[in-house]
Amino acid sequence: MVILFDEQLIPRNRAHVDIEDRGYQFGDGVYEVIRVYGGNMFCKAQHLSRLERSANEIRLNLPFTLERLDTLLEELVKQNRLREGTIYLQASRGTAPRNHSFPEQARSKVIAYTTEAPRPLETLRQGVRAITEPDLRWLRCDIKSLNLLGAVLAKQKAVDSGCQEAILHRDGQVTEGSSTNVFIVKDGRLATHPADHFILRGITRDVVIELAKELGIPVTERAFSVEELFRADEVLISSTTMEITPIISIDGRKVGSGSPGPLTRQLQTAFEKRISHSASGS
Ligand code: PMP
Repeated sequence: MVILFDEQLIPRNRAHVDIEDRGYQFGDGVYEVIRVYGGNMFCKAQHLSRLERSANEIRLNLPFTLERLDTLLEELVKQNRLREGTIYLQASRGTAPRNHSFPEQARSKVIAYTTEAPRPLETLRQGVRAITEPDLRWLRCDIKSLNLLGAVLAKQKAVDSGCQEAILHRDGQVTEGSSTNVFIVKDGRLATHPADHFILRGITRDVVIELAKELGIPVTERAFSVEELFRADEVLISSTTMEITPIISIDGRKVGSGSPGPLTRQLQTAFEKRISHSASGS
């Protein structure tokens, strides 16, 4: 197994992160997680352009071009013979004596590695349970920043309650999950929070919206309340690793009938088709 370390592919045990790396000390950096199906990166261009956007928003200069990064990631997947799994990729502002303000000299540091992971077929079929939690994160959730403490604490609370996701809310409105976007279905219509600074604009979220349009399911990007969440016919979450996962209960209360609903199933089937196209390289 090799990892990408700056511009080189090296064995993991040869990589060293300095104790003054700003990603390590301040969470000063951005990241991406890209799914690999059948050896091909799914929505690669969208992930790379979101990485560039996140980097720009925090004024971090990536150390090389996206084209170069693309080539290096392809090589990483190839050398690791990854068929089914994920790539974790991060860019930190580099290493410099500890000081909050930007260092003048530091060169940003990119690392990436792969993990083999089968698709979560069981949870896709059965759905998962969720809790609601106040959204305690900062106000630039649109940036895929390394600072994940708010998400970590919320997710742990879900796990402590025997659930798999925490659905976050701010001022009575649902924003997103701790590591997913949230959609509700009511009377045949889909709704999800607008892509503003309160949420991460998930790549999978965009795919879900696209698929809904193709399927003729009306979809609105609008904030909805916690009450609406509880009254929804169906609730689903989306992310690179969880794809389109049905939510079957929230805070111990059943969503709809308590099993995954028909629109969620329709979207999952359409998503599968997208994946198999991508996996076959078409
Ligand atoms: N929101 C948050 C807060 C996330 O961490 C993630 C996963 N990175 C998502 C949404 C889903 O984004 P994507 O579909 O691009 O994985």
